[in-house]
Amino acid sequence: MLRAAADGANSDLSAIGQALGMLGDRWVLLIVQRAFLLRVRTFAGWRDELGISESVLATRLKELVRHGILGTTAYRDGRTRYEYRLTDAGLGLWSFLLAIHSWERDWADRPGLLAPMHDTCGHDARPYLACGTCREPVTARETATDVGPRASFIRIGLPRHHRRTLRSGGRPDYLGYCPHSMEILGDRWSTAVLAAALLGVKRFIDFQSRLGIAPSVLTDRLRRFVEVGVLTPDEGRLYRLTDKGLAFFEVFAFLVDWAHRELPVPEDARITITHRPCATVLRPVLVCRACDGVLERRRVHFDLSGYEPAARRESARDRQEPAAVAPPRVAGCAS
Ligand SMILES: [Zn+2]
Ligand SMILES: [Zn+2]
Repeated sequence: MLRAAADGANSDLSAIGQALGMLGDRWVLLIVQRAFLLRVRTFAGWRDELGISESVLATRLKELVRHGILGTTAYRDGRTRYEYRLTDAGLGLWSFLLAIHSWERDWADRPGLLAPMHDTCGHDARPYLACGTCREPVTARETATDVGPRASFIRIGLPRHHRRTLRSGGRPDYLGYCPHSMEILGDRWSTAVLAAALLGVKRFIDFQSRLGIAPSVLTDRLRRFVEVGVLTPDEGRLYRLTDKGLAFFEVFAFLVDWAHRELPVPEDARITITHRPCATVLRPVLVCRACDGVLERRRVHFDLSGYEPAARRESARDRQEPAAVAPPRVAGCAS
């Protein structure tokens, strides 16, 4: 079990609040994603791959180690260096990351996105969310969510180093997440707003009281969500989830599931999602659309043969061969 998310003993914070404290950050998501996808394990590996500043990377790695998502092993290379590996709790984030990937593919118009290949059947998995108990497909509409009395989003907070980095420049990231996902997951308040919407909150004033969020921040996030097409305002000033917003439920379900498995959450601060048709607590699984088998980490791979490692991209850039910088198989966001 992992330690509580933020400084100051926040273990009474809701599961989702704690999880967002750890994961609601663009760089953290990219660091973990690269650890899975490219098996990056060293400081230099992430620095070169992501084009992230050394100080930001050092802070994020320290946090991931402190939260128990990464573990370190020392090795000698002239001087002592550290290798970072995903712990069991870190490995448990695989379904969550695959769910983000799947949502982007279905909703964010990314034709060049890599396909997760299911080794068991040899096909593109195109995963869908299912109930681990009855194996039926699940959408938000077939679930009921019970929020414990202390499952509050209040005090999620926003430390200075988690300020928004979305609109900053930097090199293009062809494996990275789309602005749409980052708009939702790239900072804690955004995810909290969407989580509240998935829990049925629709009115500005209710978002405000449930989240303890400043009106200006809330206005900003609601406006962005309307722009991205996950919320739509109606005449009665209610913000309703669009189909695209509702589909983000699968990402939310995995985040809640991971948090409940890995974080110290008191009973009355839990969020319980029930699959109504089988009346059991939802244990989310991703299922292969080709063979209906449950997807497991060791049986899924991404074909990275068209992907240029960062070092080669850099040397190509030095030689002024810009064509090599953007491999067509992993094109960036269309939007
Ligand atoms: Zn079920
Ligand atoms: Zn399959």
